[in-house]
Amino acid sequence: MISDTILRKLEAELDAGGVDTSDAALDERRHDYWVLKHLRNWRGEKIERPGVVVRPKNTAQVQAIVRVAAEGGIPLVPFGLGSGVCGGIEPDESCILVDLSTMNRVREIDETNLVASFDAGCNGLEAEEAVAERGLTIGHWPQSIAVSSVGGWVSTRAAGQFSTGYGNIEDMVYAIEVVLPNGELVTLGKAPRAAAGPDLRHLVMGAEGTMGIVSGVTLSLRRQAEKRAFTAFHTPTLAAGFEAQRQIVQNEWLPPVMRQYDVRESQRNFQPFHADDQGLLLMMHEGPASRVDAELEAVEGLASKAGLARGSDEAGPHWMERRNHVPTWTDLLEQNLIVDTIEVSAPWTRIEGVYDDVCESVLALDPIRLVSAHSSHVYRTGLNLYFTFVALHEDSAEMEGTYREVWRRTLEATAKNGGGIAHHHGVGRLRKNELHHDLGENGLALLRTLKGAIDPQGLMNPGNLIPDA
Ligand SMILES: Cc1cc2nc3c(=O)[nH]c(=O)nc-3n(C[C@H](O)[C@H](O)[C@H](O)COP(=O)(O)OP(=O)(O)OC[C@H]3O[C@@H](n4cnc5c(N)ncnc54)[C@H](O)[C@@H]3O)c2cc1C
Repeated sequence: MISDTILRKLEAELDAGGVDTSDAALDERRHDYWVLKHLRNWRGEKIERPGVVVRPKNTAQVQAIVRVAAEGGIPLVPFGLGSGVCGGIEPDESCILVDLSTMNRVREIDETNLVASFDAGCNGLEAEEAVAERGLTIGHWPQSIAVSSVGGWVSTRAAGQFSTGYGNIEDMVYAIEVVLPNGELVTLGKAPRAAAGPDLRHLVMGAEGTMGIVSGVTLSLRRQAEKRAFTAFHTPTLAAGFEAQRQIVQNEWLPPVMRQYDVRESQRNFQPFHADDQGLLLMMHEGPASRVDAELEAVEGLASKAGLARGSDEAGPHWMERRNHVPTWTDLLEQNLIVDTIEVSAPWTRIEGVYDDVCESVLALDPIRLVSAHSSHVYRTGLNLYFTFVALHEDSAEMEGTYREVWRRTLEATAKNGGGIAHHHGVGRLRKNELHHDLGENGLALLRTLKGAIDPQGLMNPGNLIPDA
């Protein structure tokens, strides 16, 4: 329970309506888009609610909220737009939930230096549309672009669908304005590049609300491309497709979109363009026309050398049109299905091992009806895999057990093969107890030390990201 004294203090700092204890507000901000929360909700189980929802309109108000919380020793949970899928938002009645969706201005667009600043709660699609009006692009297109915030992107280290050419959010962040747990404001990043000590922006990127509240973000921009083209190739084996992708990126060609689907996903998603028993490699090329033309020629040669046959150029536009359509969790639960996706990554030499071991260990579970994967983010050093699994349970009480076992097996198989257990969805409560696979025990100790120094009272999103000691 948040005391009346604290509520009055918050009201004194915020605009009218900025402090909300209505059932509707508390219900709406109980959790993010983690499927387990939707499952529990659908099963009619009780889900904890925050003590109060506060809605700041500017950075000074965020600072005021944080100071009130720090003085009262009250936990704070930042909420962007709630599209996170790892359980990063799990407030209880002792918490103040800081709803950043009301802090949503485009602050400035600088067309010469190609940077734009946004309030942290700015909707991703609205941010992109604002710069698009000037012939520019952020180039960050997560599938959730219409339902996620700029501050959420930074806080979860998000990756967009065009990342192979344009990088992930950490490659686009120019500066981050963050309110520290003591209420002080710090802006990290002020020039195109710096050798001014450790890059402190990385203490906030991926911190998932545990190190402070991001109140503003400055992103670098690009000019919109002169030419865009699509190619598609049938992959006779997974290995042949990976080899074509490796050759393409290691020869310095960087199509913004490179997506390789295994046979199951090719069959499921690309019916008119799918070839029997083959996967599909899809690319989108864009940039100056002469570079795109040169890339198209080079890619054709490298794919053919790896044994891939050319597919229909229409597969790309088919994907572009449908790429952000996903069924809701509830649609699937109604069919007795629990479904989720798990994104991991590995070096080129280990990625097939990850694919084979994950599929084998997950398919061995009785309720599993499907495991499939595609890659969608490619680097000179390796690439990601994005697994989808489907489990069928007549009795929904059994779903959570299967769900957790699939996650455990997938992350274990990935780590055993030398892969990273979290490519872009973050950690939340879902992955925090598996974080040792990536950080090791000493890395975890370092993370706890940093957290203790920055947030000595432990008030920022407690229970998230960092495993319990
Ligand atoms: C259908 C769907 C598709 C998706 N596709 C992608 C994808 O392509 N790529 C990708 O990377 N992710 C994807 N996601 C995951 C999700 O959209 C991202 O993690 C996104 O960055 C979360 O942004 P948000 O504003 O919704 O954050 P929220 O869900 O509100 O919060 C996420 C975490 O960050 C913290 N947080 C949020 N804002 C702040 C802030 N201002 N300051 C401090 N902490 C904060 C929260 O406390 C929480 O721990 C997808 C999700 C869905 C549902």
